[in-house]
Amino acid sequence: MKKISFVIPVYNEEENLPVLYKKLKEIYDQLQQTYNAELLFVNDGSKDNSWQIIKKLSETDSRVKGVLFSRNFGHQMALTAGYDHANGDAVISLDADLQDPPELIQEMIKQWEVGFHIVYARRSSRNDGFFKDLTAFVYYKLLHLVAQVPIPQHVGDFRLLDKSVLTVINQFREQARYLRGMVAWTGFSHTFIDFKRPERIHGTPAYTWSKSIQLAFDGLANFSLFPLRIAAFVGFFVIMTGSLMFAYITFDAFLHGTRYPLFKWLVTVIYIFMGVQFLLMWLLGEYIGRMYDQQKNRPLYIVQEKI
Ligand code: UDP
Ligand code: MG
Repeated sequence: MKKISFVIPVYNEEENLPVLYKKLKEIYDQLQQTYNAELLFVNDGSKDNSWQIIKKLSETDSRVKGVLFSRNFGHQMALTAGYDHANGDAVISLDADLQDPPELIQEMIKQWEVGFHIVYARRSSRNDGFFKDLTAFVYYKLLHLVAQVPIPQHVGDFRLLDKSVLTVINQFREQARYLRGMVAWTGFSHTFIDFKRPERIHGTPAYTWSKSIQLAFDGLANFSLFPLRIAAFVGFFVIMTGSLMFAYITFDAFLHGTRYPLFKWLVTVIYIFMGVQFLLMWLLGEYIGRMYDQQKNRPLYIVQEKI
């Protein structure tokens, strides 16, 4: 029988865990005929009773497994640990707060059986407040525009991965982790299931603004050299405008005999050289970017099949 692993990062979710477990149990009891299952909770340094709850669940249900972090390492690291420990033929990652509705799981498995390696759950609407919705919208557009590989928009970490994708992802040991980018980077066949993202049932989002911004920047920096190339745009702009200015005062001085004080000449020349500095900074950035890419040590290519 094939095995499905569920990976659930947990940070202060004591109120949600029993509810989530009940729902997941219902689902995998139905799947029991066709699939084995394992429920892998990764406790990311919770300060509440989450770990005790996971422990208790594992005593009554042998399919429940737990990994306890020594401190809070963050959502992406918790997911990574879950991926490292999961040994199913397909792995489904979902949040503990029921914002990733378990009702979608059966459809995800169905799509996987059809042959898709990656099944994304896509948020057709969000309910995180106007400002978060707006920033998410702008961010996904920007990321889509500048990323080296197309990263699907409005897709969080609720997804199913085939074992072959997981094997590849687990080779990525980069420190700054943006898993949804890494998954997209692999390029395996994928499909989407749309859903309305409900609100959290208990507790407060553990994702503070600063954590969200950090994650957003990890996405940009890890999958695009755009931030680094801003220096090139600034440099070209400054050199172009500076040269026009220089040309203007030169012609004015020689054709019309206008006398410009020395400081005006100097300001123009210094301005142009500022542009040159930006260009050189960009050049340095290109090398640093390459070193960064090299140091991430991702696989050079991914083979899907050999005949
Ligand atoms: N989480 C985690 N470590 C953290 C923050 C969050 O493991 O440092 C878990 C959390 O328990 C939940 C999931 O990651 O299962 C998503 O977190 P949250 O609901 O706060 O994010 P949001 O839904 O606001 O994106
Ligand atoms: Mg949530």
